[in-house]
Amino acid sequence: MTLIVQKFGGSSVADAESIARVAARIVATKKAGHDVVAVVSAMGDTTDDLVDLAGRLSSRPPTREMDILLTAGERISMALLAIAISEHGIEAKAFTGQQAGVVTDDTYGNARIVEVTPQRLENTLSHGHVAIVAGFQGVTATTNDVTTLGRGGSDTTAVALAAALGAEVCEIYSDVDGLFTADPRIVPSARKVTRITTEETLELAAHGAKILHLRAVEYARRYGVTLHVRSSFSTEQGTIVTDEEQEAETMEAPIISGVAHDRSQGKVTVIGAPDVPGTAARIFEVVAARGCNIDMIVQNVSAAETGLTDVSFTLPEAEAADAREALRGIRDELGFADLVYNENVGKLSLVGAGMRSHPGVSARLFGSLRDAGINIEMISTSEIRLSVIVRSDDLENAVRAVHAAFGLDADEVEAVVYGGTGR
Ligand code: ASP
Ligand code: MG
Repeated sequence: MTLIVQKFGGSSVADAESIARVAARIVATKKAGHDVVAVVSAMGDTTDDLVDLAGRLSSRPPTREMDILLTAGERISMALLAIAISEHGIEAKAFTGQQAGVVTDDTYGNARIVEVTPQRLENTLSHGHVAIVAGFQGVTATTNDVTTLGRGGSDTTAVALAAALGAEVCEIYSDVDGLFTADPRIVPSARKVTRITTEETLELAAHGAKILHLRAVEYARRYGVTLHVRSSFSTEQGTIVTDEEQEAETMEAPIISGVAHDRSQGKVTVIGAPDVPGTAARIFEVVAARGCNIDMIVQNVSAAETGLTDVSFTLPEAEAADAREALRGIRDELGFADLVYNENVGKLSLVGAGMRSHPGVSARLFGSLRDAGINIEMISTSEIRLSVIVRSDDLENAVRAVHAAFGLDADEVEAVVYGGTGR
């Protein structure tokens, strides 16, 4: 008997009908001879709605209370799903994160899993029952307070349980058929990726591909959990995320696995800063002290006659106000001339493990943007990724141009978007 962990995202359990459909799917898996642990997200936009509600009562809701509030969303889905499964004459038991043994640190709103003790789930499975677990939540070891794992965290719950229970595979169900070479809403001819490494998936997820929670992929990588990303609206095979070597390594892996984009970044430029030792250190010290996550950095060559330089960096838009305030506070100390903020930027990232061994990838990327008449504002690279910042108005065209330039377009449209949220 093999164990399969199945995680269903918010769009897969958005209403009673969807929950019944998911229940039927779990029952089918069970009848095919597998043990099943199902992890659920909150129904549809429930989590957003709860965040909005709290926001109407307070501009800074206490984080502990926010977590108690948000975990309610997943608890609703878990109970309804267990009820729907019982209609099939199969016993299903719903468990909160705490009951499932998900123990976390006490970082409310973004807690990390420190231990998983799934005895109650094992017990349930040993009786031939289905276990349903509320995703995205745990409980602190010290105080028993409930915590959440950060937005999108149900993926991480599923992977952690798959690792702790030694599951054969962790299936992540959403409303798209898998991972695509680009967002099918922007590139309708995007191809489904059949198999991809965790390293490439991490780069894609970290740079805007919204299909998987970043920490879930990190967890899967660390514990060797195989993921199968697929749609709950079809029975199509999705994308297998694994680092295991393929049995018949006859085909050479593709050079590029996909193009991700990210609209959520803004660009801060410190203009006319003295080009002397310590300037960059000071800029990034004060920004780091505010907890801002810097992505790309560019420092221009200083003008010979003035000895002044410009330093630009990108960060999540939501953190820009803090960063700008911190920098205004050291304007006199550093003596820079001006501070400019531009939120109309977007980032395109090209990811592929084959970049390591294939020269010319950057030339082809830049050439395709030139041919599309798109200006590049910043560039950064890793071993298997090339990212550029462009104007946000240019972003979609840039994604299409680069996708085509690397021969990623499918002959026929493969992507079906069932729900619309992408999760
Ligand atoms: N319901 C939570 C969220 O919307 C967790 C999840 O969906 O994974 O972020
Ligand atoms: Mg959600």
